[in-house]
Amino acid sequence: MCAPEIVRHVRDSAPRPSRRALFGLAGLAAAAAVVPAPAVATPRAGGVVDLTHTLTPQLPVWPGNPPIATVPVAWHAAGGFGQLALGYWEHTGTHLDAPAHRIEGAATTETLAVADLVAPLVVLDISAKAAVDADAVVTVADIDNWRAQHGEIPERAFVALHSGWERHLAEPSAFLNLDAQGRPHAPGFSGEATEYLVAQCGIVGAGVDTLSLDCGADPDYGAHTTLLGAGRYGVEMLANLAAVPPAGATVVVGAPTHAGGTGGPCRVLALT
Ligand SMILES: [Zn+2]
Repeated sequence: MCAPEIVRHVRDSAPRPSRRALFGLAGLAAAAAVVPAPAVATPRAGGVVDLTHTLTPQLPVWPGNPPIATVPVAWHAAGGFGQLALGYWEHTGTHLDAPAHRIEGAATTETLAVADLVAPLVVLDISAKAAVDADAVVTVADIDNWRAQHGEIPERAFVALHSGWERHLAEPSAFLNLDAQGRPHAPGFSGEATEYLVAQCGIVGAGVDTLSLDCGADPDYGAHTTLLGAGRYGVEMLANLAAVPPAGATVVVGAPTHAGGTGGPCRVLALT
């Protein structure tokens, strides 16, 4: 899907103004003698898939990071409104990695281009090799296999790695999969494949269903460095990638907007 098609898709999916709203707007324009009937929205064929994990203290976090803390600070019985105070490190749950996460002085959360947060969704499924190798990575060959089956990677796509690692979520020790040195082992992108996606395919971002864009065995963090170093963003701990097609969906990344952020929990949706 090219960029104009994405814009059209989003526009066609957006709520239409009500007839009452249209008449109200028309009333402001004295010259508007005739108000056209609102266009009838064309139902979208597919649905919306939530690619986000519910953020709970039980979710696995990167070694050394604390789980999210929620504290009630207002009650309906005392004042009429409820409110929680939240405490979490930015890279908790399904979350964004802004370029500044890896590159000092690079783009922070609130400066990401909103046009890059709605993108064609490409899903690379390496679950077969990840089932037998915790350090499995997306390779250039995996990308070429996808292209052989589905055609070219769309312009300005978001490429997600589906490793099947989500099956370990209920058991945090298995999800983290620490070795004797305390280093996590889980699938990710190879630095070489990330370079290929950035330089040859022009992606806007990349995501994984694990805690890191890199596989745990990469001490150089090649995927983080290449992706974020190119000014693109990452999303980690994606959910439900098995429920979206390998090609043809659109991803919407509800990125955080706190000033100076290196990332943060986000709501990620796939429009199928
Ligand atoms: Zn992160």
